[in-house]
Amino acid sequence: MKAKELIPIPDLEGARRVLCIAPHPDDAEIGAGGTLAKLAEKGARVGLAIVTDGRRGTFDPRQDLEAVAAIRRKEQEAAAQRLGITELYWLSYPDGAGLPAEELRARLIHLIREVQPQAILAPDPWLAYEAHPDHRATGLAAAEAVLFSSMPPFYPRAGLDPHKVDLVAFYYTARPNTFIDVTSTWEHKLAAIQTHTSQFPADTWPMVEGYLTLKAQELAENRGFPLAEGFKALTPMHLHINVDTEIT
Ligand code: ZN
Repeated sequence: MKAKELIPIPDLEGARRVLCIAPHPDDAEIGAGGTLAKLAEKGARVGLAIVTDGRRGTFDPRQDLEAVAAIRRKEQEAAAQRLGITELYWLSYPDGAGLPAEELRARLIHLIREVQPQAILAPDPWLAYEAHPDHRATGLAAAEAVLFSSMPPFYPRAGLDPHKVDLVAFYYTARPNTFIDVTSTWEHKLAAIQTHTSQFPADTWPMVEGYLTLKAQELAENRGFPLAEGFKALTPMHLHINVDTEIT
């Protein structure tokens, strides 16, 4: 027996209470939309926390950034509805302006203690070439929050009890260990992404759809189903002094 087998890969599909944490409006749909829709269809309670307001998501120099944020909020609400997400939590940091690491960690810990999810989904902060600081900071704060939310001395607040999360599943990962069959919800995922019209104008859609579909086919290869989303699913025990986590 190998030492790493003592801490098995946790079961994302069995989670009944799920909180997805996204850096921007649209990341949950792109990274995990098929899985979120599938979990919701199976009766799980699925919430979504959006860390920034997405105000810099435009190539138009004349656009008012508050207006961009307002548009993206509406798009996110519609997309979430499409996936069966029942609660949205807006942390409302300005997009791309630098996130306060400790404050964000504390806010996510408080949110976890309030929502009490079994599973957290977040972008993989250890994706080697990720250049967007909101993605790195959000993933890292989510991992830290999963590690510390069960420990009373970390950011105590009256009325909120410590809560142990069973697992974190990192999307946007290059090292997946979990492959969810999203064939039945693939159309919902694509429709939810397309709801973000400000980010995916019609002329760019064929490339986006083509890339996502080919990637989902690659992730599903030799698994007996056509389309998958890939995650690095880990327990809190994998998130500290664990030399096996990289190869788990
Ligand atoms: Zn993003």
